[in-house]
Amino acid sequence: MPLAVTHVLITIILVDLYRDYVAKHKKYFTLHTVFIAGFAGLLPDMDIPLNWLLNIFGASIMHRTITHTPLFGFIFLMPAFVFLYYKKHKIAVYFFVTTFGVLFHILLDFLFTGDGSGIMFFYPLSTTMLDLNLLSSFATPDIAAGVVT
Ligand SMILES: [Zn+2]
Repeated sequence: MPLAVTHVLITIILVDLYRDYVAKHKKYFTLHTVFIAGFAGLLPDMDIPLNWLLNIFGASIMHRTITHTPLFGFIFLMPAFVFLYYKKHKIAVYFFVTTFGVLFHILLDFLFTGDGSGIMFFYPLSTTMLDLNLLSSFATPDIAAGVVT
């Protein structure tokens, strides 16, 4: 599991690089957009504080389940297209970068998770959890400690 700061920073850097070098309509990519992307890069891990809250009421939610599925990421794509249809481009871009942030978080967890609880890519069709645990095979312990918990 990459650290929270890794999720936020890599997402912010990628969206900012896209904003600076690729985006044609830069007025839709403000610093707010980059901030929202960074926040969205951490959004799937909201199941951890949500679990703390649910524990107060005697319920629980497992980490890396429904919030770590592509389905959760694509939920934000629907309002993006609705706002795009109604010519609310700036708000649509907020939802597009949120989708990117969530899906990129899921990709990072998929690549670097190795504790046996991977990502359910095909949820709700299948609950098979997949992970690659790439850092265990080639990274030194110092690099792994900097990126992975
Ligand atoms: Zn995660």
